Amino acid sequence: MPRKEFQQDVSKLLKLQQAFDESSYLRGLARGDEDGMLVFRFHYAGRRRVDVSLVFNGTFSSHLTQITPWWTDLFSGDLHTYPDGCSGFCFLDDSHADFRAAGAAEAVANVPISRQSIFQCFESCIIRLCDIFKTPSDPLLRILAKGTEASNSEGQVERGEVETFESDSSDDDCNYGSDLDDSISDLSGISDRMRELLLRDVNELISCGYKHQGYLTWPAENGFILYSSIWIQELVNSGILTQDQCLAWNLEPSKYMFMLMKFGPEYIEVLRKDNISYIRGMDTNPTAAYHPQPLVEFRVVTGDVPSLSATDGIGMFQANTANNDHLRLQNKTRQETRRTILSPFFLSWSLADILNRRFLVLLSYRLQFGLNWAGAELMYERRNAISGNQPDPCFPSGDPHTRSTDWDLCRSADAQELTFIQQHRHADQLNSLSADPADSTSKSNRFHHYLNFPLLALRYVIRRLALASRFCLVCHRQINKEFEPLKPFVCDSALCTYQYFHLGLGASIEQEIIHHPGVVDMLVSLAYVAAANQKLDPFPHGVGYMKFAVHPNAGQILLREGNFLSVQVEPFVRLAVGDMIEYCYQGQNFRVKVLAIDDYLEISDELPIINKRSVSFQDQQIPFKIIENHWLGWPIRQAGAVRAHEHKLVVQTLDQLPPIKDLQNALNQQLVTGFMQSKWSHQTEAQEEDSMNANVLDRETESKRQKMPQDCPTKQSPSYVDRGKSLTLRSTLDSINRLLYPLLRWIICSNRSHVKELVDDKEKVAGVGVGYWQFKMVMSNPDKEERFLKEQRALTARKHVKSLWAFHGSPLYNWHSILRTGLNFNQIVHGRSYGHGIYHAFESVTSLGYASRSSGGWPGSKTGINLCLSLNEIVNCPENFSCTTPYLVVPNIDWVQTRFLFVRRSYSASETASQTESLDQQFTCEADGVTYVPMNVNYTPSDGYQRPIRVPLSSAIAPVPESPEHNFVDPGLLQLAKEEEARTRRNVKRQRSVEPVDVLHGEDDMVNFNARAPSKREK
Ligand SMILES: [Zn+2]
Repeated sequence: MPRKEFQQDVSKLLKLQQAFDESSYLRGLARGDEDGMLVFRFHYAGRRRVDVSLVFNGTFSSHLTQITPWWTDLFSGDLHTYPDGCSGFCFLDDSHADFRAAGAAEAVANVPISRQSIFQCFESCIIRLCDIFKTPSDPLLRILAKGTEASNSEGQVERGEVETFESDSSDDDCNYGSDLDDSISDLSGISDRMRELLLRDVNELISCGYKHQGYLTWPAENGFILYSSIWIQELVNSGILTQDQCLAWNLEPSKYMFMLMKFGPEYIEVLRKDNISYIRGMDTNPTAAYHPQPLVEFRVVTGDVPSLSATDGIGMFQANTANNDHLRLQNKTRQETRRTILSPFFLSWSLADILNRRFLVLLSYRLQFGLNWAGAELMYERRNAISGNQPDPCFPSGDPHTRSTDWDLCRSADAQELTFIQQHRHADQLNSLSADPADSTSKSNRFHHYLNFPLLALRYVIRRLALASRFCLVCHRQINKEFEPLKPFVCDSALCTYQYFHLGLGASIEQEIIHHPGVVDMLVSLAYVAAANQKLDPFPHGVGYMKFAVHPNAGQILLREGNFLSVQVEPFVRLAVGDMIEYCYQGQNFRVKVLAIDDYLEISDELPIINKRSVSFQDQQIPFKIIENHWLGWPIRQAGAVRAHEHKLVVQTLDQLPPIKDLQNALNQQLVTGFMQSKWSHQTEAQEEDSMNANVLDRETESKRQKMPQDCPTKQSPSYVDRGKSLTLRSTLDSINRLLYPLLRWIICSNRSHVKELVDDKEKVAGVGVGYWQFKMVMSNPDKEERFLKEQRALTARKHVKSLWAFHGSPLYNWHSILRTGLNFNQIVHGRSYGHGIYHAFESVTSLGYASRSSGGWPGSKTGINLCLSLNEIVNCPENFSCTTPYLVVPNIDWVQTRFLFVRRSYSASETASQTESLDQQFTCEADGVTYVPMNVNYTPSDGYQRPIRVPLSSAIAPVPESPEHNFVDPGLLQLAKEEEARTRRNVKRQRSVEPVDVLHGEDDMVNFNARAPSKREK
């Protein structure tokens, strides 16, 4: 029976665990969380490591059919055919790795699993990893061979001679950081050639308008960091980003966006020879299952000033992720002394991820096949699909001139994007390979064989920024949706949802709660009402967690007959369908799964790990333990409507959520404590990490820990605060209900519009009752806005008033959906008696009729909202509408933009009727000094009692600030330039025949990196 064979193989492999552990770099070989999953850690450079998981398909979906966690749709295969037809995949977690792990993920993802035995898979995995980390693979393979031999002879595995290898202890010392000062250290490690190239590239960057470059050495890592910073306002001015995007992604226009590249020890050269370009040192065919990649690691963050200190730059790479709150906190303590405060923004993680994992491959596709970025990305998708093992046979490899459908697809993707960019943005240079596209062929300088690597990377980052909302934050695939949201999100794939919500990637909900508690309150309330009305859409599919817990001494088995057990369960234990029961009978262990609970337990056959022998026992009480291992939360998307109990679970979970204001207070408390106590020490982190690993290995301990009452948030251990990771609500919320944090995260992160609470009267719409909470909304991305403006220009060319303003009312339970998927015809619930389109009214009272009040809002809400309507801007072309009286029915989505949201709170019981009435009669007045938008006299919005609604103009046109004066000269680059100059002089002296070559086209070093690079004017 192949299944059994598989389990036997796993057991055999696991017997080698000790031998592997002693090898000092392959450790912790064990079964994964799931059956059919093998995990191990591959250590390199001392403390660094990657965590590898091998998954064999179908191994657990057949046991656990009752539950539907995120992965069940990934695994449709079965182990019945093991090893001949079984499939699966291999992936790694590199959160404990550094730049040297570049390429490891790809190499591991390409491990062939189909038609392989577990030994074969394991072997190819080892070979690939050893290759990447330049570690000898022989000792490991020898251990493995011993195991295979032993398994063939069915004998006991003897531990053979195991060679142990000292890990490279020179890299072991990670204790830099605090003691590193900002002065430039010894630069002798850089070769002349590298320095020359680097300076050439930097000068070229400057000539392309990227003014701020910097260079930091990192002697301890035998590498260096090159960074570019761009004033974010400049991206806004050049039309690449909009103000709204900046707001939504927490990019302050006054700040700088940094792209950091860590090289080590070699710089990356992109060579061009006989019209063929390639990356030096990289396999020319990047599709090869394993391809070496030069080492470079990226980070994308923001900072207050254009320059960067060595400590800050290096600090970015010491942190595990580019989007970590503790960095922000840590840097807060330095505010007094340091020049730069680096902080991640909404897209930091996603951008760093695609750069680190894909950029080199994408670039090599571009070079090899003559594609643009969009085409290269599509080619990457086609060739590295998740099944990934077999290369696509219809795809040509190597020959750029071979025509195929896929290649044509890539070309058309390029063409599409080009049209798109040209229509909407002034970013024509984003796809260019060379620094000066107009002049690329006739360049006469001696560097014309090279392409500028940092420039290419920088342009790629800017392109991804400009097009961010089109792509999934996790898998980076293009999302094809009708609604174009302002904030990017994850695609529908279960894997992306899982990663986003479980690994805590992307936006920080803590920051949202600290800075926008009112908005969070509203989002939670809207989700709550939608769920209570069975209308939560989008729904938190795939949000939840895998519960694993062991309850020893859970009870006794009294009787077994066939597949039915009579049991007595201890009062504190709750048994659920899907749990495992483990017991020992006559010296043998048995494990069964609970299929149904009635007077008797219906159980599965014994699982194959344990001897398969049906037993029945009489007159004995056999103690058993319960192993809980099942999915808690909401299942992945399934066919058919979301079921009532799943909606109910949302309501029940949110019932337990504390008021947002309380969470904000708790976070502020943490910030203060963290600020006082934060002494970020690398050593502490390392120690703690080790102890955490020990815990993970010891499942029993772990599960016991989980069963213990959770720490009260106020009683957190000091070390927890010390690590600066205290800015999290997770532990607080987990102690209440472990579904709370993922659900809250989903509610906040799945909101794809930018919502701003209006506090200042100058920003508020005048004529609206003071009982309403006002929010400014940006729902759609700049492209939708662009289409709106285009329609407006076309249809109102001869009109003085360009826009109409009207209300849209909809029941409260619909707004969760509207904020996420936009207004569309599906939202029309009141019939179409006045034609096809989005229904509006000029009098708010009319819309209020449709925004029927709902009772039973979220109990934790500060205000208890019970009513919601929006004020939309509509292209002033009433002659084209389906209807104008009594309703304004707009047939084209592109003619409507949602601008304001008015949320009415319910009055508390303590408020008297007269108070309520007086609130109802007060209105926001027109503020002094504010210009209001002119209205079409025939179609003016009002409250229904002739009181006009006035929309402030202020936010419409923001003044473009001037570029600040910078005198930023990077000392690192200066030093490099000096060295280069000295070297050139030496050479010249030696030759004594040639005039000195002035590499930097200038006399004063201080000016070189500011403006003296060859500019277009000088040509
Ligand atoms: Zn995705």
